[in-house]
Amino acid sequence: METILFLSPSEGALTKNALEALATAKQLADSLGTTLSVGLWGDAPQAAADGIASCGATKFLAVAGAEFSQPRYATDAAASEALCRASGATIIIGPSCSRWNRVLAGVAHRLGGRADSHVTGLSATDGAPAIARWYYRQRMEGILTRTQRPWVLAVESGIAPAWDGAPGTAAVEPVACAPAGARSNVTGIEAPAADQQTIRPDAELLFVTGAGWTKKQPDGQVKTEGAQKLILDFLRLSRASLGSTKSLVDLHGEGVATLTFLNHMNQVGQTGSTPRHAKGLSTCCHGEEPHTVGWRFIGERRAISLDAGCGWARGKADVLYVADAFAVMEKVNALLAG
Ligand SMILES: Cc1cc2nc3c(=O)[nH]c(=O)nc-3n(C[C@H](O)[C@H](O)[C@H](O)COP(=O)(O)OP(=O)(O)OC[C@H]3O[C@@H](n4cnc5c(N)ncnc54)[C@H](O)[C@@H]3O)c2cc1C
Repeated sequence: METILFLSPSEGALTKNALEALATAKQLADSLGTTLSVGLWGDAPQAAADGIASCGATKFLAVAGAEFSQPRYATDAAASEALCRASGATIIIGPSCSRWNRVLAGVAHRLGGRADSHVTGLSATDGAPAIARWYYRQRMEGILTRTQRPWVLAVESGIAPAWDGAPGTAAVEPVACAPAGARSNVTGIEAPAADQQTIRPDAELLFVTGAGWTKKQPDGQVKTEGAQKLILDFLRLSRASLGSTKSLVDLHGEGVATLTFLNHMNQVGQTGSTPRHAKGLSTCCHGEEPHTVGWRFIGERRAISLDAGCGWARGKADVLYVADAFAVMEKVNALLAG
């Protein structure tokens, strides 16, 4: 008989990705007709447990203490291992956050189990759990089962609606953990200001920019500065996440005048990322990879291109606006600002 453990670090309330993983774990437990336990670790995980008190878990386990608040391999792995052992679960499901992604393979090894990351779906057929994963840069989907237990999983963000139930008071059982060898210490975090951060995984919309923004326009002019302003204004007004084609981010490295706020982290496609957003809008973009692979998991797709014959935009977008993106985005920004 399988038993399921939802496992997550807690830095205050649980993140959206963690709540999605919880919903996925609960759904699997329900379809297997088995129990769900919750395991949390952090400085004070009681608050996070209270936030999900009504999720139907039969047990809430927690490793608590100031030393477990920092993202650090030694303490994250030790806490996870202690929680897995205390729960006795055969399937352990956590979110694809940096902390869990970093330790899940080590934790599986310590438990004598197996690990799979980038899980995009969980199902059960005749009592046998299976996971879905994408291969070959998200071009093929595989369904996997494993006989080894425990099976330790990291669930991708955006694959399920986040668990959304009433908070309450969870009866949390403390789990003892004495990590050895914690040598590193987080002394601070350097991050761009929130409004400079253009990659927003939780955004409704992915806005993809292509090299056309920096090319000579029909009037013979290059309008890179204008493009920069239009795009930044749109991101500020819409709170969209910014993706880019490879051609455009590569220009940056070649020292050509281009959009200064882009880097390779923005690149979507075969050699970039394949983010999940409800909607996507590509602009000034012709490439195969951004349209076929970069958009793999985008729900509703639209494109703005001057090229009516662009096979990728025509083939992969639900709606193609054959129009000048400068003119369209100026109008869109005016509407958003008004
Ligand atoms: C092995 C390999 C891996 C690759 N991986 C990736 C990847 O991961 N991601 C990726 O993006 N690419 C990747 N590429 C490159 C990819 O094949 C394309 O070359 C690239 O995506 C094209 O970029 P683009 O669409 O921005 O530019 P272009 O092909 O130059 O297209 C620009 C478009 O903008 C339009 N345009 C210009 N001005 C306007 C305007 N005012 N309004 C509207 N439209 C306008 C033009 O009509 C044109 O269609 C890869 C290539 C290879 C070989």
